[in-house]
Amino acid sequence: MQALLCENVLKSFGAFQALKGVSLDVQEGECFGLLGPNGAGKSTLISMIYGASSRSGGKIEVFGQDPQFNGRTVRAGIGVVTQGNNLDSSMTVMENMQMFARYVGVPEDKKQKRIDELLDFMLLSHKSDAVIESLSGGMQRRLVFVRALLHSPKMVILDEPTTGLDPAVRQLLWEKVLEMKRQGITILLTTHYMDEAERLCDRLVIMDQGAVKAEGAPAKLIYDSCPNYFAGLLKEDAERLAKVELKNFTLTKDQSNTLLGASDLTQLSEFLTLQNIKPLFIRPSNLEDVFLKITGRELADND
Ligand code: ADP
Ligand code: MG
Repeated sequence: MQALLCENVLKSFGAFQALKGVSLDVQEGECFGLLGPNGAGKSTLISMIYGASSRSGGKIEVFGQDPQFNGRTVRAGIGVVTQGNNLDSSMTVMENMQMFARYVGVPEDKKQKRIDELLDFMLLSHKSDAVIESLSGGMQRRLVFVRALLHSPKMVILDEPTTGLDPAVRQLLWEKVLEMKRQGITILLTTHYMDEAERLCDRLVIMDQGAVKAEGAPAKLIYDSCPNYFAGLLKEDAERLAKVELKNFTLTKDQSNTLLGASDLTQLSEFLTLQNIKPLFIRPSNLEDVFLKITGRELADND
């Protein structure tokens, strides 16, 4: 069953077109990604999906309902982890979750059990009496996950869930997202981290400047748009190779290096040996390469 449908969605802020006709569909049980740099329009699209803002054109359906007109019904079925944590910093963890549970209509007799389960799930049980402002950034983020899950939503929207967090917390949150997926929850995730998208998403769209530039499973997108492997070259080697006629290889540039691309790893290393070149590295291609190929710009390092 379809969880989310967006058709030619438009959003303008005055004369500025933040979304220029975005179309995508998410099936139930999928983890679907919106991958794009800051300013691509990810949060703008998401706020219209959960009915927090109105669209300027096009169609959106969440489990068959239009969030602009049936906002309450739509929000009852989805949990949202927004970019900011906006928790009430003077309350304790437990007080805060009890308040939200009441707000989203968790039945009184089920409330405490649900909160306890979720605090346990996000490894926060030991913090239930702690005041929010005493929690680290990573703990606050985990608590926002708890808050988003309180009403047992069918779909969870995660807007840049790990931005600004240290690697250990990112790793933990990735595991929790995969666990949520195993429980059958549909996940819509925005990120500008290609490793996050590659690790978590079944399918994704690459967004840039308010438009979808590519769509598909991460491995398929990479396979379709890039050579399988890249060797990073020293400047002098790159200059020398630029004069050589290359048949099975491509020469491209990213911000830091000239890259020699090849579909076959053995062929690549044999060629390098033959040319007497010691590469800086050899690595498989990734979504970052896809983004660069499609937009001519880099995705990373813009936070
Ligand atoms: P992302 O989440 O991908 O980083 P956003 O959806 O936040 O991008 O923003 C997309 C574009 O729309 C940006 O250029 C941003 O400055 C602009 N924008 C977002 N919200 C507003 C607003 N309320 N008023 C004017 N411009 C906005
Ligand atoms: Mg955003």
